[in-house]
Amino acid sequence: MAFCVQCGQMQNDGTRFCRFCGGQQPDSQLIARLRMEAESIRYQVQQLQAQQMQAQQMQRMNYNQQQNQQRW
Ligand SMILES: [Zn+2]
Repeated sequence: MAFCVQCGQMQNDGTRFCRFCGGQQPDSQLIARLRMEAESIRYQVQQLQAQQMQAQQMQRMNYNQQQNQQRW
């Protein structure tokens, strides 16, 4: 089930033009493209978070090493 992007009325699936206001509806190719873009953004965010986690772990390891060096 889809809704008009302009007037919000209920539309049949796959409708290109609203039967109430005549507004053009986003076609499935566009929706698929947007979905792919959202997917790639989510992937990039996950990568970034993983990098940050690694950086934090590295910092912690360096800190522990420094502590050990001071003790000797
Ligand atoms: Zn409409």
